[in-house]
Amino acid sequence: MADTYLDLVNSGLGKQVASKLGLPKPTKLRRYRAGSDFPEGSVLVLGKGQVADAAAQAMLDWNLDVRRHAQEVDRVGAVIIDYTEAKTPSDLGKAALELSSVLRKLRSGGRVITLSRPAAGIGIGAASGTPADTAAQEPAVAAARQGVVGLLRSAAQEMRGGTTANGILIADGVAADAPSVVGALRFFLSGRSAFVDGQLLTVTDERGESTENWDQPVAGKVAVVTGAARGIGAQIARTLAQAGARVIVVDVPAAGEALTKLANELHISALQLDVTDPKAGEKILNLASERYGKLDLLVHNAGITRDKMLANMDQAKWDSVIAVNIESQLRITQAVLDSDKLGEHPRIVCLASTSGVAGNRGQTNYAASKAGVIGAVAATASLIAEKGGTINAVAPGFIESEMTAKIPAARRQISRRLNSLQQGGLPEDVAQTITFLLSDAAGGINGQTLRVCGQNLVGA
Ligand code: NAD
Repeated sequence: MADTYLDLVNSGLGKQVASKLGLPKPTKLRRYRAGSDFPEGSVLVLGKGQVADAAAQAMLDWNLDVRRHAQEVDRVGAVIIDYTEAKTPSDLGKAALELSSVLRKLRSGGRVITLSRPAAGIGIGAASGTPADTAAQEPAVAAARQGVVGLLRSAAQEMRGGTTANGILIADGVAADAPSVVGALRFFLSGRSAFVDGQLLTVTDERGESTENWDQPVAGKVAVVTGAARGIGAQIARTLAQAGARVIVVDVPAAGEALTKLANELHISALQLDVTDPKAGEKILNLASERYGKLDLLVHNAGITRDKMLANMDQAKWDSVIAVNIESQLRITQAVLDSDKLGEHPRIVCLASTSGVAGNRGQTNYAASKAGVIGAVAATASLIAEKGGTINAVAPGFIESEMTAKIPAARRQISRRLNSLQQGGLPEDVAQTITFLLSDAAGGINGQTLRVCGQNLVGA
């Protein structure tokens, strides 16, 4: 479903009218394009620690114009702030005010990225599975670290022109130049993260591999995508194929025609299968191993909504949503964990939803299933790590798709604007984020849920 308002306010007259009336002015986002994937302008690195040095070096290796002093920059593409050394809240001000001094020089499609350590005892840090070191237990240190989260999330809400602000939380003990610190930095600079805003992604460990081939980050991997006949799933299949994977698409027999069409278009394999089939995991693994010798990557995308206010909920609507959205994921993931048909670094990404983070009126069943996905992912992380792999979730917000096209028009218009980027995301935005999480550069990110929601103003 096209966002005609977005097109209108990006036309000459529409822009003027929106300014006069004080209406939202969403900007067309800078999305991933092979070969030209960085913000325009200099990259300013603030902070003096090892992490700042490692980030600056990585970006010099990518041929970016890296500067270390706010006074040196004119056209700014990105500002990277190293807060990993912050020991008390008063340590946050200097870099925050340096950022302030260059904000008006930020180009559209720019990036602000904080690098910091997770605060002890807070969900995000605790979910990393890595116990914080002793110094990090001190209240002042935790206050400084969690302060970065508040600063980042508020700064993200103030950005304009499709600029996003995101943070990388580097678990204690993980080195400044660990592959996934570099990988996450690259992802947040890239157009692949266009609709990820106001989020903090934890690098949990030092696994993963840096890559030279950022345009084909899953080259040669065998990937299965469920629910891929249409919508976000079809786009995930397309994006993974473009990124070099050998893809198998799965969907219910009723969607067989669309599934075959997609498979023919992309020259990939198709499997007609209901993910609630008790043998679904086995069938997926068998096909992957017969066709390509192994399974490397799995995307649990199949999902349904059966929305009703709780007062009107019935058993069938409740059960079907739980069965498709979470029970099937649990069963298939277990089959993967039990399998001897896996590649060296099996990776799973599960589709959650911002409804599973913040709740949503009329979606008790759906939100229960999607919050369940987030819980299952955190609990499966250590199990799949034993096999050399990772599991993570993405939680999309409002994505332009057939699912959201069903929302009544007025509510749909409002839902689109209720995030910092003031627009719905595209299936491509979810697919690009998933592609990153499936890449070896993300091998040190495990058990996490990353929202792809333009910083939905509803919820955390
Ligand atoms: P969609 O309804 O357009 O597509 C879902 C696909 O899953 C369909 O092709 C459908 O046939 C398939 N499917 C349904 N039940 C299945 C089953 N039992 N076995 C196999 N395949 C099955 O939905 P979408 O918008 O593309 O959403 C994809 C995923 O993203 C879902 O998990 C959804 O919950 C999640 N999500 C979507 C949004 C959004 O805004 N569209 C937001 C948050 C989360």
